[in-house]
Amino acid sequence: REEYCSRIEEAIGQIAFEGKFIGYKPYGNGHINDTFVVNFQQEDGSDRRYILQRMNHDTFKNPAGLMENISGVTEFLKKKIEENNGDSSRETLNIVRTKDGKDYFKDSIGSYWRSYVFIEDAVCFDKVESPEDFYNSATAFGNFQYLLSDYPAETLHETIPDFHNTPARFENFKKAVEADIKGRRAEVEAEIAFVMERDAFMYTLMDAYKEGSLPLRVTHNDTKLNNVMIDNQSGKGICVIDLDTVMPGFSVNDFGDSIRFGASTGDEDEPDLSKVNFSLELFDIYTKGFLEGCKGRLTEKEIYLFPTGAKMMTLECGMRFLTDYLQGDTYFRIHRETHNLDRCRTQFKLVSDMEKNWDAMKTVVDKYR
Ligand code: ADP
Ligand code: MG
Ligand code: MG
Repeated sequence: REEYCSRIEEAIGQIAFEGKFIGYKPYGNGHINDTFVVNFQQEDGSDRRYILQRMNHDTFKNPAGLMENISGVTEFLKKKIEENNGDSSRETLNIVRTKDGKDYFKDSIGSYWRSYVFIEDAVCFDKVESPEDFYNSATAFGNFQYLLSDYPAETLHETIPDFHNTPARFENFKKAVEADIKGRRAEVEAEIAFVMERDAFMYTLMDAYKEGSLPLRVTHNDTKLNNVMIDNQSGKGICVIDLDTVMPGFSVNDFGDSIRFGASTGDEDEPDLSKVNFSLELFDIYTKGFLEGCKGRLTEKEIYLFPTGAKMMTLECGMRFLTDYLQGDTYFRIHRETHNLDRCRTQFKLVSDMEKNWDAMKTVVDKYR
């Protein structure tokens, strides 16, 4: 603990903060990085805050590549926001570099640190409390697509390789079924069959990409409400944060993952499936907000594939929970024996609901396109 504190202070000493150091404390409800707020007093007596994060080196094997992504994307965003007469100090993350001009600092025990300007007068909500919150996150993530639509996505590092490569996830799943190292296969034959019946579907987005009809985009890959800063004055989403998983990908997967966890009436691990339903109403709200945010920058084909993205992310996620269950729960943290199986079942319930609502989903998309 003392050791850790001295590493924080080591990092603070290396980053080019302005003013006189006052103190720091843990901050926020993130689960991936260790986040701190650091206070500095300015010459005029006012206080300035910064975010300091120890990056999660277990999840992200290439912190330098990850920071190259964030640096490239935030510099680009800054220019775009200024061209649109926005406030680039609040509408994008701004990296605070080290004293020797680097975008991260590696401390003496090998931890990686980075800092951002603190976005003041705005908050993050952990839970969707109202459809309005969900709509605000949709416009923010749509606007993120809009601003980055001409960014060269292929130059980005894959911070988690094959993150949404559904065919590759499907291969892993089939290997886990075959190996059955925990002897759990017999118990989940119904779930395995559910996946296998959707075999051909798994390839649809990757095939569209390979034949050139689905563009590679800058994707966020963690499109949760608490990764959007909501402005205290306007109540609108002003800035998308948490850019660790920014990677080349498909816009419909960002859209789809938001639907997966946001347009469900139940928790991701709800054991009572009667409480887990796909909400067409929430799908409608998110579609509206996302398309408004994108301001015409998506192709017809991408918009057409919104329902496919939603189903793909939900099926892929359920399949990953099932894979982990078969492999003995080594990836997702569990709090009860069948936790991953419960999670898998909620996802498959949502997939079934989406299939039943397929035409209605298409009608919603057509309404806003
Ligand atoms: P994690 O990957 O652990 O979720 P985040 O980058 O999302 O880490 O940061 C955790 C929390 O810290 C956010 O949910 C938000 O409340 C706060 N935060 C992060 N960056 C900023 C910032 N630039 N300004 C204000 N708050 C921030
Ligand atoms: Mg976060
Ligand atoms: Mg994160």
